[in-house]
Amino acid sequence: MLIGAHCSGGVKGAVDKAVEIGADAVQLFTQSPRTWRPPNPDPETYERFRARREEAGLGAVFCHAIYLVNLAAPNDDVYEKSLASMRSTMEIACAIEADGVVFHVGSHLGSGFEHGLERALPALEQVLERCSERTWLLMENSAGAGGTIGRSLEELATLFERLDRHPRLGVCLDSCHLFVSGVDVTDPAALDEVVESLDGSIGLDRLRCLHVNDSKAPLGSNRDRHENILEGVMGEGLGTFLAHPAFQELPAILEVAGLDNRGPNADEIRKTRELHARSAPTKRRARRPKG
Ligand SMILES: [Zn+2]
Ligand SMILES: [Zn+2]
Repeated sequence: MLIGAHCSGGVKGAVDKAVEIGADAVQLFTQSPRTWRPPNPDPETYERFRARREEAGLGAVFCHAIYLVNLAAPNDDVYEKSLASMRSTMEIACAIEADGVVFHVGSHLGSGFEHGLERALPALEQVLERCSERTWLLMENSAGAGGTIGRSLEELATLFERLDRHPRLGVCLDSCHLFVSGVDVTDPAALDEVVESLDGSIGLDRLRCLHVNDSKAPLGSNRDRHENILEGVMGEGLGTFLAHPAFQELPAILEVAGLDNRGPNADEIRKTRELHARSAPTKRRARRPKG
C-alpha cells in the first residue's frame, strides 16, 4: 500500500511537499480551491511536474476537483462554472500524467436524486471524453449530507450504469465518508460487506484510490469532519480499513488537518504506516475492535 497525502502547493509545489513529509503518493488541487477561475495552461510547469515526480519516485498522483464543484446543481451559473472547472482539472491532470481526478458529484440541493442525476450525467460525459488512458475520472463516495449524490455504493453504481460503465470511470473510497454515512469500516464484517457490494456492482478493478481519514463525527452522522489519524472516533479501528486484503495494492491518501490545520505532515504519514503495519491482514480477525 502506498501511503500518500493531499499536499498544498498545486502543480508547482505539491511534489516538494510530498517529499518533505515522506509520502509515497500525492493528491493536489490544480487551481485555488476557493475561486472558480481555472488557471491558464502552463505547459512548462506541467513538464517540470512530470520530471520532479519521476525524480521523487512518487507511486501515484491524483488531482482533486475543488470543493465548490457541484455537477448536480439546479442553478445554471454554479453548474456551468463547475463543468468548466472539472474540464480544466481533467486537462491539467492529463498534462501532468496524473492517475486520476477525484471529485464529489455534488448535491441536488433538494431537487431530488433523479433531477441531480440528469444534471450530472451530461457533464460527466464531457469530462470523461477528456480522460486519457492513464488519467481516469474517480467518483468519491460522499458523507451523505444535504442531498449529496454518492452517499452509498448503490448511488455510485447507478451513476456508473447510467454512464454505460465508461472504461475510464473509477471510484475513490473515503474511510471517513463511509463511516459517517453509516458503514462501520472499523468492523471487518461491515467492511467486507461493502467491498463485496462494490465488487458485485462496479467491480473492484475500478477502485483506484482510497482516502484515509479518521472522523470527528459519529457513525451515521452524515457530517464530514476529518480527524487526524488515531485521534478521532475510529482511532485504532481505522487499521481495519487500511488492512483490508482488497486494498493492499492501492494508494491511500490522507486528507487530515495535521498540526494547526497545515495539512497532513510527516507525523500523520508515520502514524498511518505504523497503523497499517500492526493491522496486517493476517492479524486482522484477532484484532477486531470493541463495540
Ligand atoms: Zn476524501
Ligand atoms: Zn470529506
